[in-house]
Amino acid sequence: MTQIQETKATCCYCGVGCGVIVQTDGRQVTGVRGDPDHPANFGRLCTKGSTLHLTARPALQQQARALAPELRTQRGEPRRQAGWGETLDFIAQKFADTIRRHGPDSVGFYISGQLLTEDYYVFNKLAKGLIGTNNIDTNSRLCMSSAVAGYKQTLGADAPPACYEDIDHAQVIFIAGSNTAYAHPILYRRIEEARRRNPDLKVIVADPRRTDTAREADLFLPILPGTDVALFNGMLHICLWEDLIDADYIARHTEGFAELKQTLRDYTPAYVAETCGIREQDLVAAARWFGQSKAALSLYCQGLNQSSSGTAKNAALINLHLATGQIGKPGAGPFSLTGQPNAMGGREVGGLANLMSAHRDMANPAHRAEIARLWGVDDVPSRPGKTAVEMFDAIRAGEIKIVWIACTNPAQSLPEQRMVREALEKAELVIVQEAYKTTATVDYADVLLPATTWSEKEGTVTNSERRITRFKPVLPRPGQAWHDWEIAVNFARRLEANLGRTATLFPYADVEAIWNEHRETTRGRDLDITGLSYRILEEQGPQQWPYPEGAAGGRKRLYEDGVYPTSSGKARFANTVYQPVAEAVDARYPFRLSTGRLRDQWHGMSRTGTVAQLFSHAAEPAVVMAAADMDRRMIAEGDLVHVTGRRGSQILPAMAGDDMRAGQAFIGMHWGEEYLSGRGHDGRGSFGVNSLTSPVFDPVSKQPELKHAAVKILKAELP
Ligand code: SF4
Repeated sequence: MTQIQETKATCCYCGVGCGVIVQTDGRQVTGVRGDPDHPANFGRLCTKGSTLHLTARPALQQQARALAPELRTQRGEPRRQAGWGETLDFIAQKFADTIRRHGPDSVGFYISGQLLTEDYYVFNKLAKGLIGTNNIDTNSRLCMSSAVAGYKQTLGADAPPACYEDIDHAQVIFIAGSNTAYAHPILYRRIEEARRRNPDLKVIVADPRRTDTAREADLFLPILPGTDVALFNGMLHICLWEDLIDADYIARHTEGFAELKQTLRDYTPAYVAETCGIREQDLVAAARWFGQSKAALSLYCQGLNQSSSGTAKNAALINLHLATGQIGKPGAGPFSLTGQPNAMGGREVGGLANLMSAHRDMANPAHRAEIARLWGVDDVPSRPGKTAVEMFDAIRAGEIKIVWIACTNPAQSLPEQRMVREALEKAELVIVQEAYKTTATVDYADVLLPATTWSEKEGTVTNSERRITRFKPVLPRPGQAWHDWEIAVNFARRLEANLGRTATLFPYADVEAIWNEHRETTRGRDLDITGLSYRILEEQGPQQWPYPEGAAGGRKRLYEDGVYPTSSGKARFANTVYQPVAEAVDARYPFRLSTGRLRDQWHGMSRTGTVAQLFSHAAEPAVVMAAADMDRRMIAEGDLVHVTGRRGSQILPAMAGDDMRAGQAFIGMHWGEEYLSGRGHDGRGSFGVNSLTSPVFDPVSKQPELKHAAVKILKAELP
C-alpha cells in the first residue's frame, strides 16, 4: 500500500496565510487539508485552498510549467532552450554593459508578493546594494502600498496593530472597501462564528456594491465610489459632536488633533450623506455604534487602497480609531488585510521602490548608512525608484532599458495595458522569471528563467497579522527550475564579476543564511525579529513579529502602551480632506466601473484557472450591471455588450446583479486577453479588463486607482 506523507505548509493564495497539510505519495501531491494547529485558520480552508493539490498535478506541470531556461539574443527570433550558465552569463553581461553606459537607474526589477521573504531580500539587496538603484517595485504596489503609507503617516511605522483574534473580542466590526467573504474567506468565517457566539456584535459594511459581505451586515452603507474619506471624516464629526471621542487618549497619545478638528467642521451629516449617497440616519448610526463601542475593529482592503486618494482613505480611518481610543486593546484597531500571501514579507525587507529594509526611511542618511554597513557596500541610493506604473512608463520612454520581472504578470495586471505592452516591446531586454510559461508577460520575454513554486520551495511568509510561517519543500523541483533566491544569487555573483567586484555580497549557502542576515537588519527596529530562528519556527510553529532576542514569543497586538514609533512617541492625526475619484463620469462615459476579486479565482488564474471546479461559481467573465440599466438599454441577460472607456474597449456578456446601483458596473479582475475580446483605442488588440482601468495613482503611495474608471456600455448585437 502506498505510504502517504504529510508536510506542513501555507496556502499560496491570499494574505490570510492559512496553514495547510500537504499530502504526498512520494511522487506527487495527492491532497491537502487545513492545518488544525495553524492560528490563522485552525484547520479550515476555503474553496481555493482546498483545491491546491489539483494545481500540482503532473500532467499540468508538464503542460503549463516553465521547465528550462530559454533565451533569444535577437528580437523577433524565437527563444531557444539554453543552459543556466549561458543564460545567466548573457544577462549579467547585458546588465553590466547597460549600467556602465547608462548608469544604475537604466535597469529595473518588477517582483511579486508571491515571492518568499528570503527571495525578496536577495532581490532588494541586488538592486539597492549591488547595482545601486531603487528601481525595484512589486505587484504589491497594486494591493497595499496605500495601507503602508497610511500607517506610516499616522502611527509612524508600517505595522498592522491588530490580530485575527481581535475578531473574537470586537463589539463592532467595521468592514470598509473589502468583500471579505470572497477575498479573505477564512477570516470571514471567523466573523460569522464570532457573531454566532456574540449576538450583540454589530457588523457595519461600507462598499459601493452590495457584496455578499454587505448582505449579511447589520448596517450597510452603500457609498458612492471614492467617497470613503468623506464617510470617515463624517463619522468622526458626529463622534465629536456627540462627545464620543476619547479626549484622554487624544491628549496623552496623539498630536495634530486641533488641525484635523478644523477640517472636520465641514463634514456635517447632511453634506456627508449627500456626498456618499447614503441616508443620514445610517451615517449617524454607524458613527454611534463605532464611538460607543467598547471595542471597534476595522477591516479594510482594496476599496481603500486602490484609489487616487488611497493614503488619505487609510489615514482618515486610522484618525477615527485614534480619536475614539479604539486601538491598542483587545478587539480594537485599524487592520488592513493584505491581498497576497507575502506582501507583508516584502514590506519587511523593504522590497519596494520607496521602502528600505526593516522599515527604515530612504530619505534618512543614518538609515541608509546602517543598511550600507550591514550589507558591506559604500552606500545605498537615496534617489526614489520608479514604482509600478512609473517603471513601465520609464521603460516605454527608454529611460529603463532592461526589466527583470519575477513571479508576476504585468501584461495582465497593471492598468493602462496598452502602455505596458508598448513598454515591454520597447525594452532592450525583458527577463521573466516564472513558474508558469502560460502568462501574457512570458510572450514578451527575451529570457525565460524557470522558477520553482508552491510545494517546491523553502522559506518564510508573513500574513496580514504579522505572523511568520516557515515551510519546507514537499516536491522536487521540476525540470531545470531553480528557486527564486538561487536565480537571483547566481546572477548577482556573475554581475559582481562583470563589475570587477572581488568579494561577493551574496555568500549564502542556503535559504536559512538569507533569513539570518535579514533578521539582523531588524535589530532594534519596530519589527525586530532577532529572537526568531528557523529552529523556533520549526519547533514552536508560526510566530508574530516583533520577536526580539530574548523574547519568549511574538506580540499579538501593537501599541497597547500607547507609545508609537514616531519621534515624539505619539501617533499623528492626518489632516484628511475628501477628493473625488480621478476620472469623473460624464454624459459620454456614464458608468462607474470597478474591478475586483471573485470568490473562487486568484489573480490572473495561472494556477486557479487549471482547476475545473473553481469555474462553477463564475464560468466566464461578464460585466455586472443593475437590471434597470440593462432594461433601459434593451440589454438582456447574456447579451454581448461593448464596455468602452477612455483607454480601450472590451466585449463581454452582460449580467444583472442585485448588488449594483444604477450607473455602476463591475468586472472580475481575473480574465485576460485570452478570454476577452475587444480593442484599444488605437485599434490594436484586446488586453483584458485592465485595458479599461486607470493608471492614475495616489500621490503618496503611488498605488493606481484600479477601483474606478468611467465607461459607457452599449449593446454589441442589435436584434
Ligand atoms: Fe488560502 Fe486565503 Fe483561502 Fe486561506 S482564506 S485557504 S489563505 S485562499
